[in-house]
Amino acid sequence: MAGTPKTAKSSGLKSDDLIVITGAGGFIAGALAKYFKDQGFTNIRAVDRKPLPEWYQIVPGVESLCLDVSEYHNCEKACEGAVEVYNLAADMGGMGFIERFRIQCLRSILVNTHMIEAAWRAGATRYFFASSACAYNTDLQKDPHCKALKESDAYPAMAERGYGWEKLMSEMFCQEYTAERGLITGIARFHNVYGPLGTWDGGREKVPAAICRKVITAKDTGKHEINIWGDGEQTRSFMYIDDCTQGIDYIMHCEELNAVPINLGSSEMVSINELVSIAEEIGGVKLKRTYDLTAPKGVNGRNSDNTMIQRILGWQPSTPLKKGLTKTYGWIAEQYADRKEGKRTVKDSH
Ligand code: NAD
Repeated sequence: MAGTPKTAKSSGLKSDDLIVITGAGGFIAGALAKYFKDQGFTNIRAVDRKPLPEWYQIVPGVESLCLDVSEYHNCEKACEGAVEVYNLAADMGGMGFIERFRIQCLRSILVNTHMIEAAWRAGATRYFFASSACAYNTDLQKDPHCKALKESDAYPAMAERGYGWEKLMSEMFCQEYTAERGLITGIARFHNVYGPLGTWDGGREKVPAAICRKVITAKDTGKHEINIWGDGEQTRSFMYIDDCTQGIDYIMHCEELNAVPINLGSSEMVSINELVSIAEEIGGVKLKRTYDLTAPKGVNGRNSDNTMIQRILGWQPSTPLKKGLTKTYGWIAEQYADRKEGKRTVKDSH
């Protein structure tokens, strides 16, 4: 088993070395900027194309820039002086978004293509890319009780149309920059990330947030019904945000994982019906379920095989779903109440 995994701190990154994080106006990269700030890093540049007032969180003491990194000249600005670059900017959402807006998803290829070139030219030592479980072969995910996905299951490739293929191609960019140009790259295939300060309404939200919002709305309106996309038997695993930021740090600083795509996800698989039951339990309510069989529902079954991450890092995401969802539910309930009172909330407007 591996010893304690290395982090930015223990790998020798100096506290004033510049860390650049793109997509930081959104959910995961915003949390990552906060994570590094909390670790004592003092020179962090957060970048997003959204205007600053729309960022989900602005971390005090972090330089926050509004730049569209699908344009190369903006990537140069973003990467100037960078020692480590974390690229999490992507046009992204839940199944309702990625099944519908495939061109937008595919166009994120511009972000990674330009960011990795700019990072390399700026002399950055490490580059992180946020890939996805959507890069896996969809043929292996037809059964709700299918085997958990292991890293080698991405090839032969039959990724999710649009979004998944973009991720797979961008992974390859990372691997070739390592092979040809010596840039150290970290590539994590995230499996459904959830938690406070994530998108919870507006069309891009993912299923844990959507289910919490629906339960909260049903309680508030007294209309004790919930509509579920698909038959509810489709399965997934969900990773709590704190596990995600910790895992990114570990993966980026593990020499054995240079240019090696690896799962970063929970292996606690549940059906969507089970997820609804957990949210109902948290909300203290039972709802009448209706099913929309025409709604987008993605693959039938998906789980993260964590054999590799456990072997290499001796670690895996471990926040129990019930615990993480309780925190998320509480936060969305506050957001819901704030919105009702006309206060500002985390809102997706792009
Ligand atoms: P998010 O939508 O909350 O954040 C992404 C951010 O990227 C947004 O704020 C958006 O404005 C920004 N962005 C998009 N295009 C940009 C551009 N051209 N220039 C600058 N900023 C741009 O999404 P998230 O959930 O935080 O996802 C972060 C990363 O993790 C993405 O790459 C996503 O594909 C990947 N991922 C997320 C999940 C998940 O469950 N949330 C799962 C797998 C992979």
